[in-house]
Amino acid sequence: MERNTENYSRIDRLREEQTLPREEMGALLSSMTKEEASYLYGKASEVRDQHYGKEVFLRGLIEFTNYCRNDCLYCGIRRSNQKAQRYRLTEEEILDCCDKGYLLGFRTFVLQGGEDLYFTDEKICAIVRKIRQKHPDCAVTLSIGERPRESYEAFFEAGAERYLLRHETINPTHYKMLHPQELTIENRVRCLKDLREIGFQVGCGMMVGSPYQTLDYLLDDLYFMREFQPHMIGIGPFIPHADTPFGDRTQGGLDDTLHLLAVIRLMNPRVLLPATTALGTIHPLGREMGIQAGANVVMPNLSPTGVRGKYMLYDGKICTGDEAAECRRCMELRMEKIGFHVATARGDSLVR
Ligand code: SAH
Repeated sequence: MERNTENYSRIDRLREEQTLPREEMGALLSSMTKEEASYLYGKASEVRDQHYGKEVFLRGLIEFTNYCRNDCLYCGIRRSNQKAQRYRLTEEEILDCCDKGYLLGFRTFVLQGGEDLYFTDEKICAIVRKIRQKHPDCAVTLSIGERPRESYEAFFEAGAERYLLRHETINPTHYKMLHPQELTIENRVRCLKDLREIGFQVGCGMMVGSPYQTLDYLLDDLYFMREFQPHMIGIGPFIPHADTPFGDRTQGGLDDTLHLLAVIRLMNPRVLLPATTALGTIHPLGREMGIQAGANVVMPNLSPTGVRGKYMLYDGKICTGDEAAECRRCMELRMEKIGFHVATARGDSLVR
């Protein structure tokens, strides 16, 4: 009984002060009842509504290559997964996805891929320039991993304005448990800082329930993100992929992910917060629940149907058989059903 009152007061203070002392944040995250969670989602929704209302921003995700030089232990398109059928979209195919997306009301295109050096800086810049030329009222977001600062400068120069690079975990020991030894959290953070200095709207984030993750690590992530003040924060449950070293691990929890979405909204009131495909994969209404817990972005897939089933970061990924138009319509219906409206707008971050 006493615990209950404690958590309500923690949620109220988190809302007022946008943070909580570490012990209390940990206690809240590890002891929430269903009723407390609903209260938390309500507060997070109020804050989201204050800044963004009931408009949900759409981002069209174009998964343009699944070649990857990295070997992240959790990821289905890691280098050593021999079973992955590799593909690359041509420039024409990418532009075609954008044209289709534009007609469907998308005003942000997210180019995501493995770290595929076939796509040199020049190639990426040429693609970004062409998209910006054809669709000057649209934003281009890149999500292509770690590159030198000069590459990021060139991308920005070419017209890319946003970059998604999840930090994955801020704890160096945990980072090493999820990644091949040549990758470091130091370089990841270097990339994030470079991107922000250059002028990108930057997104970081992590998986929930990744192998070896502890409450302590998650708290580190929360305080790191509050301090870093990203424009966007992408989180979703870890989902095992059979052909990776983490194939038999347990997937991240639905409630844990929703709790964290809400806490992130309260800690970062103006941040852009997607209800991710991974969340939609672990529960048929996962994305709706994410929005109701404080998220305000959805990222339907715009990749050509022929390649969708090949961009398998994890098992069971949803929407791999649908046309872009279907995904768009489906998303609109889903959002309308819960009292939200998908916006045809660039949807820039209110974080400065
Ligand atoms: N190469 C790019 C894009 C990576 S894919 C980059 O490095 O940023 C985008 C995100 O998918 C990753 O950042 C990771 O957090 C998430 N992801 C990868 N494998 C996953 C899995 N098995 N379960 C859930 N999310 C996963």
